[in-house]
Amino acid sequence: MSGPAASKPQASSKSVVLDAIRAAGTISRVGLIRATGFTAPTISTLVRKLINEDLVVETGHAKSTGGKRRVLLQLNHASRYAVGVHLDHGVITYALTNLGGTVVARISRPGAGAEEPQVVVARIATEIAALIDGVGVERLRILGVGVVFPGPVDAPRGIGGPPDVGLAPAMRQWNGFPLGRALEQVAGLPVVLDNDSTAAALGEHWTGGFGTAASAAALYMGTGIGAGLVINGVTYRGPSGNVGELGHVSVSADGPRCWCGARGCVEALAGPAAVVAAVRSDPAATRAAGLAAGGRRSSVVADFAAISRAARRGEPRALALLERSARYVGTAARTLANLMDLEVLVLTGPSLAAAGSVYLPIVRHELRTAFSRGTHTVDVRLSRSAATASAIGAAALILESELVPLGHGPRPAEHLAEERTRLTESAS
Ligand SMILES: [Zn+2]
Repeated sequence: MSGPAASKPQASSKSVVLDAIRAAGTISRVGLIRATGFTAPTISTLVRKLINEDLVVETGHAKSTGGKRRVLLQLNHASRYAVGVHLDHGVITYALTNLGGTVVARISRPGAGAEEPQVVVARIATEIAALIDGVGVERLRILGVGVVFPGPVDAPRGIGGPPDVGLAPAMRQWNGFPLGRALEQVAGLPVVLDNDSTAAALGEHWTGGFGTAASAAALYMGTGIGAGLVINGVTYRGPSGNVGELGHVSVSADGPRCWCGARGCVEALAGPAAVVAAVRSDPAATRAAGLAAGGRRSSVVADFAAISRAARRGEPRALALLERSARYVGTAARTLANLMDLEVLVLTGPSLAAAGSVYLPIVRHELRTAFSRGTHTVDVRLSRSAATASAIGAAALILESELVPLGHGPRPAEHLAEERTRLTESAS
């Protein structure tokens, strides 16, 4: 498939029933009739097929309510798995989840660095195979691979930023590279693509981090800054995957020129790369933060994590730079909250995994002046899995295509789509 995750919705009776079972945990056939509005014969047919496909299992009986005790159904969590890959300059993170979205394995490997995309893709295929073999899961149980990336993912062009500037500097050689198709060929599995911030939001939604909020966002900080939005339980991607570019919200019209071409972007003024550059411009601060001289082998994320550790040790220069960055990020976050009437904002991504203790109170403070404060507060939290949220979200892209009706997620694999068509026809 290798399409972007913004493809057209696909509904099927099978995914409606699967999603109802997932949401309920355990449910009887009668419960499914109530939850889905399908007729008893349709539910009976669909459940039989789901059991035959090993996706659903019968699990004991409901408590008797006088009549016959009802058989309960639940997802067969170990029947299918999804691979999530978060591809970034400094690190590539992998997650393997079961059908219920529980992470069963995760690994981190060196990032893409300056290597050629084709070389990195071959390595990713090898590392995916190692991840799957390490858990001992049969390959036919793998639904597919979700790959997420720091940048917009656009259907006809593969991956790439604005045509005049392309992707962020650290990933420039990937501009226009057909990542989905290339990985599908070497890994032999269906691949879907999305951007890392949107995937982080999906991962948060999938693992319950947004609670019941109608308007929620993930503020993602890795090498750059981005945001993913989940509105009424649906991941919002915009028409071209260019949604949530929070790093390019301007907080100063006269500010410095950003790599994107605009002025005063929060990423240019106070993103992780700006913090690292400020520390590196000061030899004493560089030494105090323990940054390697020259920085040839380091990445922005690794340097930023070292600066965060120095701040926690009480290094005043490191702490002051992080606090300044957090005020700028909080200012941009307030803009996002005011535009989207946010109820929940989750701070996530590897740079916030490192520096969350500095950013959380400051971003919270900035959001106390959100315009919605007369009606509700904006609940600002740190993600429970900030370092791996995007990889988990990448796997959730695949699960979403299998489980969620009216999928706002990626296009399902061709064989799954055919299977769904057959099911829908025979069930209706
Ligand atoms: Zn910019």
